[in-house]
Amino acid sequence: MPTAIEFFKFLPKTNCGECGQATCLAFAMQLANQKATIDACPYVDGGAKEKLEESSAPPVRAITIGSGDRAVSMGGETVLYRHERRFVNPTAFAISISDTCSAQEMEQEVSKYLDMAFERVGTVFNIDMFVLRDDSGDPESFRTAAVRLRSLTDLPLVLESSSADVLSSAAAELRDVRPLIYGAGQDNIEAMVAVAKENSLPLALIGNDLDRMAEMVEVARKGGVEDLILDLGSSSMKHILESNTVARKVSLRRTFKGLGYPLMNLVGSGPAAMMKASLAVMKYSSLVVFDSLEAQQALPLMTLRQNIYTDPQVPIQVKEDLYPISDPGEESPILFTTNFSLTYFTVRADIEKSRQPVWLQVVDTEGLSVLTAYAAGKFSHEHVATALQASGALDRSKGPIVTPGMVAKLSGKLEEALGRKVMVGTMESSALPKFLKNLRQ
Ligand code: SF4
Repeated sequence: MPTAIEFFKFLPKTNCGECGQATCLAFAMQLANQKATIDACPYVDGGAKEKLEESSAPPVRAITIGSGDRAVSMGGETVLYRHERRFVNPTAFAISISDTCSAQEMEQEVSKYLDMAFERVGTVFNIDMFVLRDDSGDPESFRTAAVRLRSLTDLPLVLESSSADVLSSAAAELRDVRPLIYGAGQDNIEAMVAVAKENSLPLALIGNDLDRMAEMVEVARKGGVEDLILDLGSSSMKHILESNTVARKVSLRRTFKGLGYPLMNLVGSGPAAMMKASLAVMKYSSLVVFDSLEAQQALPLMTLRQNIYTDPQVPIQVKEDLYPISDPGEESPILFTTNFSLTYFTVRADIEKSRQPVWLQVVDTEGLSVLTAYAAGKFSHEHVATALQASGALDRSKGPIVTPGMVAKLSGKLEEALGRKVMVGTMESSALPKFLKNLRQ
């Protein structure tokens, strides 16, 4: 990624302000921080624009598998370490299903994984994709199984076979939902590129050797397939660590263009798969394929993934809304807090401990905690009043409104703004159970 000064060299330096920035230098800084695109300046000439677009394209190509709301984006990464900026697209988890399983077995398998969902700090996690594996060796059986799998789920699919003949009719049948073709090795690359090109589909390339992989990338690109994902092998943890790290490093340094694509790992099943998958999540894999996965294995992996892929510059937030706790009614108190996840879940847990019915209003403070948000002017009585009115809280309850004790100062102005009784709550959330029980008496 070019620096602000490198971007600045290509800008007209007239400081006209049409890009929304006061000066060309300010715009160059926005470009370097990926907060603006070069299109926002109408005065950059075509040649310079092309150069800038090329040099500012992410070093790991961004690709999409699937279609519609459930499509999975991969790649687009720009850093080696999360703290340098952020990782962009979380690793997708996929489950492999054989094309030889019966209709009933496939239905059971798919529904088992679709039901596997976990909620953690306000986000729900599921399996992201399914892989249809060619065990039959028969094009018609594979096509029939692909159509059946598609009818059972709208998650993105991977069509896996070493035979282009087996893959081609299934790829044509499902091309509208953009499955990944897996995959091309040295022996079948021309035929696989032809299938991917004919159906405008992304293609996985398979090979352990980085130099040979770069050569295959060249063959695929010359054949007209640009959306690639690379399987550099998953035989051991050492191999995953070395191959994935080298591929990411050389792509970011732009010293070796051929490997700038999302990576994938096939990890199998059982405890060894867990270890490999953990490493793959931490070390740059965009897609991890399991032969099977139990809920107790999926939960820690999805938690790890969430931790690696959250933006370190953006606090985890919950949605601004009115949250009913313990079936509140029209006499129940209304408490409010900020949308910083850690604050919300702590307050919520303490309210639940009290077993008292409460309406909890979350106010959007851009993820700041109570005192920080108040100091930053994002948790004023106006913000709280607007949130209470927008959520309908004031119509649903005539009970007292309770401010967090740390922002007791809000109570007077809030009472005035709402024309309703406002009480001061506890300094610490942990004191809420006792406070709420006393309030009830
Ligand atoms: S629109 Fe272009 S020329 Fe005008 S200030 Fe922005 S970068 Fe500079």
